[in-house]
Amino acid sequence: MRALPDPVQTLIDRLSRLPGIGPKTASRLAFHLLKAPDEDALELAKALEEMKSQTGHCEQCFNITLAGETLCEICRSENRSGEVLCVVEEPLDVLAIERTGSYQGKYHVLMGVLSPIEGIGPDQIKVFPLLERLKNGAVREVILATNPSMEGDATALYLQQRITPMGIKVSRLARGLPVGGDIEYADQTTLQRALTERQSME
Ligand SMILES: [Zn+2]
Repeated sequence: MRALPDPVQTLIDRLSRLPGIGPKTASRLAFHLLKAPDEDALELAKALEEMKSQTGHCEQCFNITLAGETLCEICRSENRSGEVLCVVEEPLDVLAIERTGSYQGKYHVLMGVLSPIEGIGPDQIKVFPLLERLKNGAVREVILATNPSMEGDATALYLQQRITPMGIKVSRLARGLPVGGDIEYADQTTLQRALTERQSME
């Protein structure tokens, strides 16, 4: 006999698959929702459903956008320079850099990072759309803002070797970000400094 009815156990199992949530936190959340008024729990379910059904990816930079919109707000903006392109791993990194308030260019989200160990090559992430995007000559500088991890560094090097021959300046976020860390968790000041003190990759 199970200690919990199946629907409760199922929710606990689902919640514990989320990053940073272990079985204990998952149980606490499930019991919180079980006690909460019906509408609170249903609002959460509705928010999840809407998030999945009403969002998509920008066709140009792959940032998250509203479903049905071809281009995201940043790509559409006429106030942002199309001459500087910041390349990041995930949409959350766009958010982190936007929070610094000191970047006025556009982005390209790779949707991952090169990782030979996990079998992730250039085909599995948005590398070729980036190289294609650079061909029209509008971009003068590419800032490689992949995470300061082994994979992030390898991805930056790979991209630099392909972009420099196109006559485009390539720079990398300055050191000072915690090594092995995530841009997404860096504090605003550190990230802002890494951005302004970015170093040219030769
Ligand atoms: Zn976009």
